[in-house]
Amino acid sequence: MRTRCIRQGQVEVGVIEHEGREFAALGASVVGRSVTGYTRRTNGHIVLTTWCGLTMLDCRCEVVERHWTGSLALMFRLPSRRYIVGYALADHGMLFRGELFTDCEEKEARAAARRLADHFSELDAEDEATFQAEFEEDRLLDIEYRCPNCGHEWQEQWSCVCDSECPECGTTDITALSWDDAD
Ligand SMILES: [Zn+2]
Repeated sequence: MRTRCIRQGQVEVGVIEHEGREFAALGASVVGRSVTGYTRRTNGHIVLTTWCGLTMLDCRCEVVERHWTGSLALMFRLPSRRYIVGYALADHGMLFRGELFTDCEEKEARAAARRLADHFSELDAEDEATFQAEFEEDRLLDIEYRCPNCGHEWQEQWSCVCDSECPECGTTDITALSWDDAD
């Protein structure tokens, strides 16, 4: 089995060559040993498709592990002790990220599926955390200050409430009077 990537215009096409047959995956990619596709549930089993729904891999698939969130560790059994194992958020219409394993025992493949699932679910959690952090950073506050020396009042916009300096008399370390979310 060989994997390669070709480009058609802007679209990356992943190709898996397996026993003389080619599994082309438009909009999915095969980089080295990694395989990307989408899950689809048909007749009670899961197949791997391209983003536009073409079947990419239609072989026996086993759900190795189902997390409480609905995400799955999957194992696709290919002939000759080859497996594609990986992770998907759900068994239908979700991104699948996995790896090709050749010449390995079923037990190893199953363990690898669990490892990948753990790895990717951690990445997803990190993405979520990063997104949240960026969201928090983007938040701006309208902060009001009043100078205790000259009585001057003014407003500043910052992402957090911090001390400021009076623009009139130069008094420093003036604590914010009040703040609100900026529009
Ligand atoms: Zn002042």
